[in-house]
Amino acid sequence: MTTHLTVTPSTNALSDSARADAMRVLAFGRTFTDHMVTIPYRDGAWQQGELKAYGPLSLDPSASSLHYGQAIFEGFKAFSQPDGGVATFRPDQNGARFNRSAARLAMPDLPVELFMEAADALITLDRKWVPQNVGESLYLRPLMIATDPFLGVRPSLEYLFVLFASPAGAYFPQGVKPVTVWISEDYVRAAPGGTGEAKCAGNYAASLVAQAQAQEKGCDQVVWIDAVHRKYIEEMGGMNLFFVYQENGKTTIVTPELSGTLLAGITRLSLLQIAKDLGFESEERKISIEQWRDDVASGRMTEAFACGTAAVITPVGHVKAKSFEMTINNFENGPVTMAMRDGLLGIQHGTTPDTHGWMHKVC
Ligand SMILES: *Cc1c(COP(=O)(O)O)cnc(C)c1O
Repeated sequence: MTTHLTVTPSTNALSDSARADAMRVLAFGRTFTDHMVTIPYRDGAWQQGELKAYGPLSLDPSASSLHYGQAIFEGFKAFSQPDGGVATFRPDQNGARFNRSAARLAMPDLPVELFMEAADALITLDRKWVPQNVGESLYLRPLMIATDPFLGVRPSLEYLFVLFASPAGAYFPQGVKPVTVWISEDYVRAAPGGTGEAKCAGNYAASLVAQAQAQEKGCDQVVWIDAVHRKYIEEMGGMNLFFVYQENGKTTIVTPELSGTLLAGITRLSLLQIAKDLGFESEERKISIEQWRDDVASGRMTEAFACGTAAVITPVGHVKAKSFEMTINNFENGPVTMAMRDGLLGIQHGTTPDTHGWMHKVC
């Protein structure tokens, strides 16, 4: 199967007991499996890749990604299945988005088949690292960096694709509980024509001071508003947002429309479908800060939550801005939020039928 990858098994892979120790307490993103994939790009083509021991990369100090930030990444998960196998959740979507990010940063396209082949080969070799419990997964982190040893500002001619994996426990070990958010009126994440739609490293660098400001205000996370009108809600940190409305016996979930500045989350896309499956209405449209405040005050909006691959679904329990603050659903996990979360986790863990063909069987 691994026709495009040369496989060199690690000579210091952890023993079964050392791996069990490493996996006893799973934080997010701190423990890495025994292997990784690297595929270099040069002379206008992807070269022979390698599946080999996880370890440091060797980079020239003049590598252009270190200076000018041609760097993109992805994140998706592999889950243990009830039949003992392992399956990934919508990896083709991540492969396609990886290429959209690459195009925006003037980086080369990586065939989605190669992206998926690399993931399947790594997961298969390191399958003992896939955690077994519900809420746990093997988190896959693909990335691409520019490696030209050249200080001129232009698209690099050489790149490196890297893929590694990390066994992940529940993102919030205390279980699902609501977060408090700070609406950032001082910083913007993304402007029209910028890189907000791309999963590029620089977007995260630019978000860190806003996140620090949210924490100074006693909040867990920052909420971004649009750069032009400074009034429409966009995202929460690195997650998409949903708002739940209950009116006349009807449940409607609303999420900000993809305006060109939002990151098109695959969890967001999947939840729009799951909402339909659960008999909820869904809408993609703009929602302003004032409308959020007024709809909570009037009782029309009963819940709000954020979603993304890493943390799945996180309820928003309290909102602070410069001029007001409010609590949503008594700072409790709401029933619609939890039904959506259970619906998604059921498909991912293979306990609910995968009616949309989202799971990709790996091994
Ligand atoms: C990755 C990301 C998301 C969530 O995307 P998923 O595909 O659901 O994981 C949302 N917002 C930002 C800014 C992101 O980088």
